Amino acid sequence: MRVIKFGGTSVGSPERMSTVAELTLQQPQPVVVVLSAVSGTTNALVEMAALATEGRHKKALIQLDQLQEKYLAFVPELLKTEAGKQQGNDILKDHFGWLERLLSKEGFGTVEEKEVLAQGELLSTRLFSAFLKERDIKSTLLPALDFMRIDQWGEPEIETIRELVLPLLGENPTGIYITQGYICRNHRGEIDNLRRGGSDYTASLVGAALRADEVQIWTDISGMHNNDPRVVANTKPLAHMSFDEAAELAYFGAKILHPSSILPAQKYNIPVRLLNTMKPQDEGTLISGTTEEAGIRAIAAKDGITAVKIRSGRMLMAYGFLRRVFEVFEQHRTPIDMITTSEVAVSLTIDDATNLDAITKALEAYGTVDVDREQTIICMAGYNLINQRGKAAQALEAVQHLPVRMISYGGSRHNLSLLIPSQYKTDALQSLHRRLFTE
Ligand code: ASP
Ligand code: MG
Repeated sequence: MRVIKFGGTSVGSPERMSTVAELTLQQPQPVVVVLSAVSGTTNALVEMAALATEGRHKKALIQLDQLQEKYLAFVPELLKTEAGKQQGNDILKDHFGWLERLLSKEGFGTVEEKEVLAQGELLSTRLFSAFLKERDIKSTLLPALDFMRIDQWGEPEIETIRELVLPLLGENPTGIYITQGYICRNHRGEIDNLRRGGSDYTASLVGAALRADEVQIWTDISGMHNNDPRVVANTKPLAHMSFDEAAELAYFGAKILHPSSILPAQKYNIPVRLLNTMKPQDEGTLISGTTEEAGIRAIAAKDGITAVKIRSGRMLMAYGFLRRVFEVFEQHRTPIDMITTSEVAVSLTIDDATNLDAITKALEAYGTVDVDREQTIICMAGYNLINQRGKAAQALEAVQHLPVRMISYGGSRHNLSLLIPSQYKTDALQSLHRRLFTE
């Protein structure tokens, strides 16, 4: 069994959807197809939900109309027969009608918001099913809301997902199954989601639940590149990466893959292939449990980072200090990314600064607190990097002209991360690329 996932741009137009159908037909069956919402849809729904939350229902409905216009143009291009068009329009009526009712609701809250956000994937999968049906291609729609489950902490429950999805596939799974990325139900049974970009995560969770042979993530770039192609010229896709390397890079900025999506695949040892819908013949990147050459293999950057430094005379030889510092972040449900310490101070980074004021206030009980905003984490990943003599020196040499705020090395064997002010990101990525990959 294979699980193949297509992102928003891959289903972003009627032609692209028909490419998705072709690519699906080329797969060995049974195959589970996970679809994102048509590109732009989730963003639009997020905006409408925000307006409805503020009580600006009229404005939300105007935006809903604009979105519907796009879909009204999409359907007759996608579906050609009378019956097909009729079905397409019925699908739009269902979902846009429902959205209209939701967005008009007084007391619009988070439950309604999640329902609104779910409509994008529900639409794309139903339209894709109608498209296959029109071409006489048999497929089965698997409603993600019937099997994708998260617990009270928002964590997916793979074994529950397995128990729920297996009966839906039938005794002898055959053919094409279609399901929605991103959406799920929470422990209260309400509609929920795996957070933005979560369709990749759905694919690897379903892959893990079904113990699939392979998970494929189809996007619009030919695999994971050795540096950010938007910032650096002549980047190259990596043919192969280990789960560990891919996880470091996805977490620290590589946009191609949702950071959580490596873990389920790694746990069940399911290879993940990153492929390009526009260039299906390209090799892409295979992420698996095997590793190859050592050294720094790829660089990624994550912006919008805030560094927090706590300096305390009392830290010297005091046990329990770090625990108290970490507890502050835990109480404010804010994950920490990088940490560096000295005898008198500790610096750490967060990317969610929502509760920063409260955190700073609480930390002031333990020492002087300094905050630096607009920082960027530059993450370098490579298998067993830590045992490669001279590699870290090479990297630091490449950025010697830049102000490096933090260095993190040795936390895992596969990663070296630097924190720099964001204004130097382009320079840092280009200098590192030159020194590490071209000289
Ligand atoms: N449609 C969702 C989003 O835009 C999920 C996804 O595309 O992965 O975030
Ligand atoms: Mg994505």
